This record gives sequence, C-alpha cells and structure tokens, in this order.
Amino acid sequence: QAPAPGRRIRELPDELVSQIAAGEVVERPASVVRELVDNALDAGARQITVRLVAGGVRSIVVEDDGGGIAREDLPLALKRHATSKIASLAELESVATMGFRGEALAAIASVAEMTLTTRTAEMPHAWRLQARSGELAPAARGTGTTVEVNELFFSTPARRKFLKTDATEFAHALEAVRRHALARPDVGFAVWHEARLAAQWRAAAPAQRWADVLGADFIAASRGVQAERGPLALQGRAGQPEAARSRADLQYVFVNGRYVRDRLLAHAVRAAYEDQLHGSRQPAYLLFLQIAPELVDVNVHPTKIEVRFRDGRAVHQAVRAAVEDALAPTRAGTNEAAVP
Ligand code: ADP
Ligand code: MG
Repeated sequence: QAPAPGRRIRELPDELVSQIAAGEVVERPASVVRELVDNALDAGARQITVRLVAGGVRSIVVEDDGGGIAREDLPLALKRHATSKIASLAELESVATMGFRGEALAAIASVAEMTLTTRTAEMPHAWRLQARSGELAPAARGTGTTVEVNELFFSTPARRKFLKTDATEFAHALEAVRRHALARPDVGFAVWHEARLAAQWRAAAPAQRWADVLGADFIAASRGVQAERGPLALQGRAGQPEAARSRADLQYVFVNGRYVRDRLLAHAVRAAYEDQLHGSRQPAYLLFLQIAPELVDVNVHPTKIEVRFRDGRAVHQAVRAAVEDALAPTRAGTNEAAVP
C-alpha cells in the first residue's frame, strides 16, 4: 500500500515504538534467553538456571543469585533506555558489562507477558512486578532475580509465525546458554526443557568447562592458543586441520567475554589455516580475545553480535599469528602455547 499523499507526520504511540524496537532485539526465544542471562551475569550471579517450555515459546524463566534490583528501581528496569550500567558517553566507551543499552527488558515486555521477582541483600523480602499491569506485590525468594517471560509474540502474530518448531527453538536457546557457559566457566548453569534437565555445567576451570561444553573430542583434537600482543590477549583452542569439519558449526569467537560473529576475525583464523585446509573444510576453534575496551566499539548492532575494532589490521595480524603459532608448535620460539 503506497503512502497516501499529503498524509501528516505524527509521533507513534509509545507501545508501538517499543514493539518496533523489540523487533531488533527479540527475534526468537533464544534472544530472550541471551538477554536475560546477560543481565544475570552483569548482576554478578554465580548460578543461573534457565527453564523453558515449548522451546521457550510458551515460557522462559531465568533465575539468578545476583545482586537483585532495589524496589524503587523496579519500574525503571522496564523503561526503555533506562540502565544502571552506564551514565555517560565516557562510560559507554569503556563499558565492561554485557548490557548498557537499557533496552532488553522493555523490548521483551512489549512482545510477551513478563514478570520480575527480585530481592537485594538489603530487602526484607522479595517483590514481584507484573510488567503489563504494573502490579507490585510482596513475594518470597532469596537474594537475586527471577524473570519469567510467557507467550512470546502473543500480541504480534506476524512475528510468531516466523518461529520454528519447539525443538528448533529449544536448540537455539540452548546454544545461547552454551556460549555464555564457554565464556564464564566460573558460573554454574542449568537448562531445563519441559521437566527434563537438558544441560548442567558446574563452575569449573576454563579448560574443564570447554571440555564439558564442546566435548573431550574437540579438546583432544585441538591445540592451546595463548598469545599477548600489546593491548591484545588471545586464548582458547584451535582445532587441528585433520579435525576440520564439513560444517562451520564449531567456531566460537568471543571479544571481551561476548560472543561475536565477526568477518575480520573469522578471516584471520581462516588465513592461519590457509595451506592446511582443503576445499570447503571448516576449522573448529574457540577463541577468546581480550582487548582494551577503548579499542573496540561494541555499540554497532542492537544485539551486540558485531564489533568494530579501532585498529582492525593489528587485530587481524595478532589473531592470525596466534593461531598459526598454535598450529605449528615446533616452530622455534614462536609458540607460546605450552598448553598441550
Ligand atoms: P541493560 O542490561 O542494557 O542495562 P536491560 O533492559 O537488560 O538493560 O535491564 C535494565 C536494568 O535492569 C539493568 O540495567 C539492571 O539494572 C536491571 N536488571 C535487569 N536484569 C537484572 C538482573 N537479573 N539482576 C539485577 N538487575 C537486573
Ligand atoms: Mg540487559
């Protein structure tokens, strides 16, 4: 339908603004899981439990033992662009938390039924806030936060139509938690689907956690990556060329603890395997890049899945060299990867 000529400009109602914005952040249950687990980690959780019903389409519950939300902050938590994580442009440029946009809870609340139950160490009891009605009532739980999200996209059927089967949605949601579990071995995770415990990772040393999540086979068929170059540090595992796969389904890159999909980094890794991989064989790898926050812009994409480096060339070179060194451990003096 073509826009009617002469139609006047008007401001969209708040609710519609939120729903439009939610389209960028909430694509499927897995996006909700990712945002809620991000929040739990930012709150300092040591244990995070995710419960899903019907792949998360019916219900998603994320429970943490983090710091909780003060009662007077509760209504603000649901407001768009309200956050406790940054307060200025300077803080945005050096942000170290997973969140900072203050959008996730507002977005989720605009496309689902959401309830927040939370308690800080100072509160004599918990409070439960129902997003839609704004109803606030006393509740029982220890310190921490439980966010319950029901009937995703109930009010936006067009979106709901794009959801796949429950099994597929569940697989995506589980994958979202696996990424968090890889990045945060110090935190315990449990994922329930329906009444079944689908995955459980107890707090562990990084190497152990990586084996727990990706399997001992990958660890056995990969080499340790460990390198430091100026403001950049890299660690993880690079799969040996013989263990390359037909699909790119075991390629994980994290920048400052956040899972990213980055062409520059993927290209750098690929370049390191250059002469050792044939045809369309895909290397398997798990890489954690630590870089001074000032040297990377994480505010490129609403879901923060993309990043931009201030000096892309330097990053490319460092990553390529680190992976090359890991793959060629006999090359004299270059391999810092004493890890077997
Ligand atoms: P952001 O994470 O970008 O700040 P969100 O909409 O995800 O935005 O969350 C808004 C605010 O609600 C956060 O800044 C935080 O103060 C609070 N919050 C959300 N989830 C939790 C949680 N699980 N524990 C403690 N505080 C939380
Ligand atoms: Mg958040």
